[in-house]
Amino acid sequence: MNKKLIVGNWKMNPGTLNEARKIARNVRRAALTLVHTEAIICPPSVFLVPLIPRKKARHFSIGAQSVYFAESGAYTGLISTAMLHDVGVEYVIVGHSEERQRGDTDEMVSKKVRAVIEAGMTPIVCVGESSRDDVGATHFGALREQIRNSFENVPKKAAGNIVLAYEPVWAIGAKDSMVPEQIYEMSLFVKKVFSDVFSQESAVKISVLYGGAVNSRNAADIVSIGKVDGLLVGRESLNTVSFVELLKAVDAVK
Ligand code: PEP
Repeated sequence: MNKKLIVGNWKMNPGTLNEARKIARNVRRAALTLVHTEAIICPPSVFLVPLIPRKKARHFSIGAQSVYFAESGAYTGLISTAMLHDVGVEYVIVGHSEERQRGDTDEMVSKKVRAVIEAGMTPIVCVGESSRDDVGATHFGALREQIRNSFENVPKKAAGNIVLAYEPVWAIGAKDSMVPEQIYEMSLFVKKVFSDVFSQESAVKISVLYGGAVNSRNAADIVSIGKVDGLLVGRESLNTVSFVELLKAVDAVK
């Protein structure tokens, strides 16, 4: 069984390093009590270095929210995979819908995935349909295309180093998550497409996370009924009390 991964995407929050340290400290302490769950927090890049523990902490890792694929050069404002790896970042979110909306194409996503793996980190690759219809006339096809294209530049042997985050765009920031039964269906679908792109063997092993309006009340059902290997959490990851409850609820799922 894969360890369950709970990824907290802080986005452009909180406003101060002091607050960031507080949230990170509380999550790190709570993670000490986890048995088969890993807490991964993804703060804004400016807070990464001060939040990375000097010694590897139990069930706790730091991820970045973004990266650029070029090795170095005239890319004002951007950060390379080598820089992230050098300071101790272990995971990188790639292809989040908010970055895709700001212009990241599937091709750029695939170059980033490759660069992250080559630098020795694990990409958390976000995929998900923008809208849904009752009969699946468009969303399955759109999702299949997005997954295929997002791994276009990625060598087959890299499959074992990828985490997939299925995030239906309409559920991100929404009031309610997708219902767990549908999450189960979609997680099987993304695994099937992953299997077609890479191999059956890698699809059996891959961790598929769900993201979109996850909170401490729905997390356990999403993991147990939706049969996903973890969660990508936005808003609720900044509320320490709720995020710690969420971690414990998921860790208790058999
Ligand atoms: C996200 O930003 O990836 C996300 C899932 O956000 P939220 O949990 O706030 O819906």
